Amino acid sequence: MSYNRELQVALEAVLQASRLCREVSADIASAGVTRKKDSSPVTIADFGAQAVINTELLNAFPYDEIIGEEDSSKLQSVRELKTEVIKRIRNIKPGLSEKAVIDALDAGKSAGGKSGRFWAVDPIDGTKGFLRGDQYVIAIGLIVNGRVVLGVLGCPNLPAGLSPESRDSDTVRGVIVYAVYGEGSYMRSYNNDNPIRIHVSGIAKTNNAWFTESVEPAHSSHGKSKEIAEILGITKQPLRIDSQAKYVTVARGDSPIYLRIPKSEEYKECIWDHAAGSIIVEEASGRVTDIYGNKLDFSSGRKLTGNTGIVASNGLLHDAVVDAVKRIL
Ligand code: AMP
Ligand code: MG
Repeated sequence: MSYNRELQVALEAVLQASRLCREVSADIASAGVTRKKDSSPVTIADFGAQAVINTELLNAFPYDEIIGEEDSSKLQSVRELKTEVIKRIRNIKPGLSEKAVIDALDAGKSAGGKSGRFWAVDPIDGTKGFLRGDQYVIAIGLIVNGRVVLGVLGCPNLPAGLSPESRDSDTVRGVIVYAVYGEGSYMRSYNNDNPIRIHVSGIAKTNNAWFTESVEPAHSSHGKSKEIAEILGITKQPLRIDSQAKYVTVARGDSPIYLRIPKSEEYKECIWDHAAGSIIVEEASGRVTDIYGNKLDFSSGRKLTGNTGIVASNGLLHDAVVDAVKRIL
């Protein structure tokens, strides 16, 4: 089955949400905006982008469900926040009523599950990166009967390439990466719909490889990944970036391995943090499992309750990484 219409709608939603996020981000940079925690710039962009995305998805597919990170409860209780969010949304969608914004946000409460169509939406994945002016993504995945069939990642700050040699170079930033089940993964720029097909790297020996991992040590154990690197003979420094941009670096061959090792056994990953990224790596001929080598199970609700952590790789190195993880944990 082709998901061409779903793809076009998700791309449009990502374009609009990215515009909103970039506008808020520009204000942070120019005015050093500080507000009460309740209505911080990241909160404004989070709600604004979620409402814009949900509106687009529901207009096109009114019978689909949405699993979104935000709902309207906090927005309703903080007047300053509501005013600012609605102002930002109207820059993108002039005339959208307050009620339409609230309804759109509250449409994201789906519990997910084994059957049906669910959109998994993370309006700003990598909020810490967003605030630093580093990497963040706008993530939309479509899950049908428990399987991810489509993923779109808007990456407003990601350069077109991020090889070890060019990690710090100041090239033009901003790409959109997407995949449909069985149809490959593609990357385009924001202002030019001229996609190129992307593929994982061909690195076949672990001692030539390196990891990409979270910037935030609270999200993934840097200590454990260092131990695993030693077992695998990896000497290159990890590429640390926020958000599902890590999946993009694996999908287009900038990094051969993305490792995410939970800091506690109890932490369960949210499906909106992995739906889009995982299909993008798989469709680029890579492999994605949890750290024990189990397939990710997107049919278990809003979280990946049956999985622990993430290994995404070019496929060639996957078993070696999972074996090393098992030796350490
Ligand atoms: P990253 O930028 O890859 O570090 O991941 C950002 C995502 O980490 C956020 O969207 C959160 O959903 C998720 N997150 C929050 N707390 C934790 C945690 N304790 N362990 C792992 N991931 C987390
Ligand atoms: Mg997230």
